[in-house]
Amino acid sequence: METFGLYFLSTLIFCYYLWIRRIYHKCGRGWGSAGTGAALLVTAHPDDECMFFAPALVRLAGLGLPVHLLCLSTGNFYNQGEVRKKELLQSCAVLGIPSSRVTILDHRDLPDHPGVQWDPELISMFILRHIQIHHISLVLTFDEDGVSGHANHIAVYYAIRNLYSERRLPNRCQVLVLESTNILRRYISILDLPISWLRPHHVMCILHSQENQQAREAMYCHQSQLLWFRHVYLYISRYMFINTFHLISQNV
Ligand SMILES: [Zn+2]
Repeated sequence: METFGLYFLSTLIFCYYLWIRRIYHKCGRGWGSAGTGAALLVTAHPDDECMFFAPALVRLAGLGLPVHLLCLSTGNFYNQGEVRKKELLQSCAVLGIPSSRVTILDHRDLPDHPGVQWDPELISMFILRHIQIHHISLVLTFDEDGVSGHANHIAVYYAIRNLYSERRLPNRCQVLVLESTNILRRYISILDLPISWLRPHHVMCILHSQENQQAREAMYCHQSQLLWFRHVYLYISRYMFINTFHLISQNV
């Protein structure tokens, strides 16, 4: 009976391994028209790119697609803006984005502050200008819950949603928003994979352990932010391994 149990368990583990391999090779498909242009990630703060979007950035870099980053603030909440700008450039280099493709805004109406409502129209203007200058065909950003619920993340979503619903984006420009999960799923790391896979999504990106190391190295560039709980985050956050995106639609 014990032998049968062991056999059953090892078969189960082997099947799970094969299943992960299968979806790993399938993941990252569905970027759509992105292959003909460049991609733009819009974030609110330095470190959003590696804390939340590393799987997508690693996957896009693997495809050889030029990726631009527009970070809407310097992350100056604790007066560390100058340090954080440098950390962001280092993190982007690890994730395959050269400094020439990184834009960090320092606008007085877009401070890093959860209590300040950013003006969606102001953000829209910066994003649209970026899309036009760099011939962007794919935009990635937060969804309406902003992953962590930070008001600045959510403001970016509403700015892009307005651009989309008012049909101000170029015709071939696709917008994908990063799915926010509940708090339990957010912190079960790779164990969230079956749930992510089963739930509806447009694009899913997962990282294997070597690629996850790359994501962690990017996070280590943000030395000013590496408090103890960030170290824990690196190991338990699903966003260090998995990104699922929804296509923004006209009826949002
Ligand atoms: Zn943030």
